[in-house]
Amino acid sequence: MADYGMYHALGQGENIDPNDPKRTTQPAPPQFQPPVAANPYQQQQGMGYGQSPQLPQGQQQYYGGPSPMGAPGPSPAQAPGYGPPQGQGGHFPAQPSPAIGDDGGLAAQMGGMSLGADAHHGTARRKKKDRHAYHQVEATGSSQAFNGLPPAGTSATAFLNADPSVTPGSPFVGGPMTPQMSQFPAAVNPQFSPMPASPAEFAARSGHMDHLPAAPTMVHASGQNKVAPDEMPSVPLSRDSVQQYFLTNIYPTFERLIPPPATASFVAFDQGNSSPKFARLTMNNLPATAEGLKSTGLPLGLLLQPLAPLQAGELAVPVLDFGDQGPPRCHRCRAYINPFMMFRSGGNKFVCNLCNYANDTPPEYFCATSPQGVRVDRDQRPELTRGTVEFVVPKEYWTKEPVGMRYLFVIDVTQESFNKGYLESFCDGILGALYGADENEEKDENGETKRRIPPGAKVGFVTFDKEVHFYNASPALEQAQMMIMPDIEDPFVPLSEGLFVDPYESRAVIASLLTRLPQMFSNIKNPEPALLSTLNSAVAALEKTGGKIFCSISALSTWGPGRLFMRDDGKHPGGEPDKKLFSTDHPAWRKLAEKMVSLGVGVDFFMAAPSGGYLDVATVGYVSSTTGGETFYYPNFIAPRDNTKLSLEIKHAVTRETGYQALMKARCSNGLQISAYHGNFIQHTFGADLEIGVIDADKALGVTFGYDGKLDSKLDAHFQAALLYTTASGQRRVRCINVIAGVSDSAKDSLKFVDQDAVYAIMAKEASTKLATTSSTLKDIRLSLTEKTIDVLAAYRKSYLSQAHPPSQLVMPERLKEFSMYMLAMVKCRAFKGGSETTDRRVHEMRMIRSMGALELSLYLYPRMIAIHNLQPEEGFPDETTGGHLKMPPTIRTSFSLVEPGGVYLVDNGQQCLLWFHAQTSPNLIQDLFGEDKASLKDLDAYTSTLPVLQTHLNAQVRNIVEFLRTMRGSKGLTIQLARQGIDGAEYEFARMLVEDRNNEAQSYVDWLVHIHKQVQFELAGHRKREDTSDSSSSLTSTFAGLRTPYW
Ligand SMILES: [Zn+2]
Repeated sequence: MADYGMYHALGQGENIDPNDPKRTTQPAPPQFQPPVAANPYQQQQGMGYGQSPQLPQGQQQYYGGPSPMGAPGPSPAQAPGYGPPQGQGGHFPAQPSPAIGDDGGLAAQMGGMSLGADAHHGTARRKKKDRHAYHQVEATGSSQAFNGLPPAGTSATAFLNADPSVTPGSPFVGGPMTPQMSQFPAAVNPQFSPMPASPAEFAARSGHMDHLPAAPTMVHASGQNKVAPDEMPSVPLSRDSVQQYFLTNIYPTFERLIPPPATASFVAFDQGNSSPKFARLTMNNLPATAEGLKSTGLPLGLLLQPLAPLQAGELAVPVLDFGDQGPPRCHRCRAYINPFMMFRSGGNKFVCNLCNYANDTPPEYFCATSPQGVRVDRDQRPELTRGTVEFVVPKEYWTKEPVGMRYLFVIDVTQESFNKGYLESFCDGILGALYGADENEEKDENGETKRRIPPGAKVGFVTFDKEVHFYNASPALEQAQMMIMPDIEDPFVPLSEGLFVDPYESRAVIASLLTRLPQMFSNIKNPEPALLSTLNSAVAALEKTGGKIFCSISALSTWGPGRLFMRDDGKHPGGEPDKKLFSTDHPAWRKLAEKMVSLGVGVDFFMAAPSGGYLDVATVGYVSSTTGGETFYYPNFIAPRDNTKLSLEIKHAVTRETGYQALMKARCSNGLQISAYHGNFIQHTFGADLEIGVIDADKALGVTFGYDGKLDSKLDAHFQAALLYTTASGQRRVRCINVIAGVSDSAKDSLKFVDQDAVYAIMAKEASTKLATTSSTLKDIRLSLTEKTIDVLAAYRKSYLSQAHPPSQLVMPERLKEFSMYMLAMVKCRAFKGGSETTDRRVHEMRMIRSMGALELSLYLYPRMIAIHNLQPEEGFPDETTGGHLKMPPTIRTSFSLVEPGGVYLVDNGQQCLLWFHAQTSPNLIQDLFGEDKASLKDLDAYTSTLPVLQTHLNAQVRNIVEFLRTMRGSKGLTIQLARQGIDGAEYEFARMLVEDRNNEAQSYVDWLVHIHKQVQFELAGHRKREDTSDSSSSLTSTFAGLRTPYW
């Protein structure tokens, strides 16, 4: 039995050979190893910066002098490392309030309202601390040198990163956050064995650990606008504090039933229950009855991301081959064998965990059981010990012979595409994705170019304007040959072979083709693309095999069959666009999408509107969202700025794990039934399997459940999702994801096991489905999200609070502390917000929400914001104390009230990453970040998308931080966009991302809590008036029964 202790310390404990196939234990958490820039300080001792440490304090050019330790509220000029230039009296108001005199209306707009008069919030910790120039790290003998510990006298609360269990003061009313309140044990907790749990352990587990008091959080919300910001549950704090724990601890999937926040980087150890990376239940302990669930106001749902990426240190999903027999399955409900099926009668029977049917064990699968009823071969059988496994499946599961995936690149060569540099960017992007941008990049151990797509997979190329051109890229040719499809009314494929080739055998031909394409079409310049015909002929090329299309488009498709026209003139009388603009009625486009799915084809679009024009994303994007693909949308494409992002996204789309020709199905225990699926797929009839053309690592979908009976609280509830698909390398497999949850007679117990990220994700997907499929308007959606928020908090207050609380307190369940903030962010997101927004962007984001995984959605709703003008010296570099993980600076609340004069902030919502500069940013900081020749904000290139590589500490820090953020994201490429105060238009986007402020046509966080609280009080007093017209989307009301027995 492994020792728990070894999972804390790296480089100690068990010697694990990672290549040992018999290994059953989990290696220690890995070190995060991004391409870390060297610490230039160490290289530079004695040069440049090396001079500085000898300077007496206060004589440095730009680093503010140290403030007295513990002195409250130093003036801004003293505060951050890169404070604003001093001695220019009058530029900086003495108060740290967001009202920045001459900065125009935007500051006021962003500030929204002042959250209390003082500045005791997020970044205050910087001010309490002695903040020397960071290059004094190794100043010899100085008692003030930074040694990784806060200087004596520093208040521990000043550190957001501090371990919450030792933080003496907590931002929450009701005392400090103790280990008992946290879902995560302190390191001194009882040992656990990270071995697969036995069935007996499964059964015995309730009572093991999760009966922790789930203390509610109280916010005084009675006085109007008197909520102190420190009392409001903080999303950044909740993320950062838990992240610290998982730098040195793994997440055992069975013993800790409440997953880490979706934004956390963690190593999951699969003990038979699937990792939360693949599946998150809204409640990991279910109320036994529908009434119990209803009394919580919460949905019962499962968020599934079947091909989610794993991180270093996690064991790969095992691939199991049961030969022609296929994997053992329940004869009654067709569930796949899994760790929760119980063997009886000495191993001759297995009882299905979903339908309780006692199956005969197939003779070839028989194995004797121990006296405890455990198969003696259990530990050698991943299907009996791991929550997520893959079965290679025999011919009965095929619809056509599986082959390596066909990647078909369909490239827009119209006038706009050429003129704006989009054609060239797209071609470069494909080259980079297939071969690497750099000749020397990514060689395997034999010195060969590393394959970016698996052996057996093939690529093909098509270009189009008002004609469609196919290319023979056979390696036998000198140059690719173009074949023009003569009749766009009757699409077919004009060449019989040479369209699909191995990209490495045909590298020379392909590289030359992609390099020459822009020039080839430089003289032709047709303005109008015929996209529908092109896609129809692309589908014809993939008819026999299925596959994936990567298609660029840069203009409204106005030519040929299925031509589109300007539907959205931007005039929306009454404030809301006609709902027709959110979908497509065009029969030819709908037919195309259905045909693609039936053939196992899906498409990713790269849609650029170089002049900000209308592309009818509603119609074109319908095809990608229906087929399981994705739309990458560049609303105002500018080649110099957006090239890098486009390249990163093409590379990601091509290289991420992708399967095609997929069917998906979820199963659940008796007593529960599926009420709805939310995502991007086709479901022909209710209860039928989901049909998906392509599915990739980033795609998630939601399943909601209702009750058709009472659950037995002595038994667990089980869920199994199965994805049947063909891998890119051409193997037909079923990926099985098994999830278990406890059952309680009292819904109060269930509230202790709520997964907040799953709750709002399911609600977001439901809302998006509702908008797309019902007559609900945007306003209806916002009202319904608001009412749901009130429902949840009122239900808790009404039924589940054990002690009396004064009415002036808004009380939030411990597991749903930040729920209200996420719901406010949802009301503010582009998909649902009030006010003007182009329908292209709206419909794009609406569909994106339906396909996003938990991490991407969390960031999309609440961006992470990092102050970089006052980074600690050790931040942005590997941290020895956590085994070499990059030490990340704390994230701060997204509110303009926390923005410091002279400050510089990185704000990333997973879709775009802005680097915002206060107008008074120190010139020295600008130089450290961008180079000696950049002395002021005006010197920076507005189209900057990456940081230069410089030998300064700050530059290395920020590059490392960006590199880390890149690894914790969804499908979008991370590049930097400048947002300089008073200079760049992106500043408005920055204001939009500060979701705690009043913006996006909605309230500030404070006002929102006050509003919610008032409504909760009305509810308790019995005179709440619901504002939403109906609640038809509720999964509780579904009474559907009688799912047909599925074949597979
Ligand atoms: Zn069954």
